[in-house]
Amino acid sequence: MRPALRRIKKVLVRTPGGRHVWHRVKKRSRDRCGICGSELHGSRRDRPRGDLCVSCSRTLMRKKVM
Ligand SMILES: [Zn+2]
Repeated sequence: MRPALRRIKKVLVRTPGGRHVWHRVKKRSRDRCGICGSELHGSRRDRPRGDLCVSCSRTLMRKKVM
């Protein structure tokens, strides 16, 4: 198997014709901040959490307080 294809996740799918075919599963991109668009650290891919990074949420909280 080619090294580039080793990490691709595959799922066995039944076609309408009754055949079983391996389908490639697209990787989900990392969660990104809603304001600045940077990658969120410590967010698990299967559990959706907050959508802002640390610095953006901090500035938002400061604006709310002021
Ligand atoms: Zn941000």
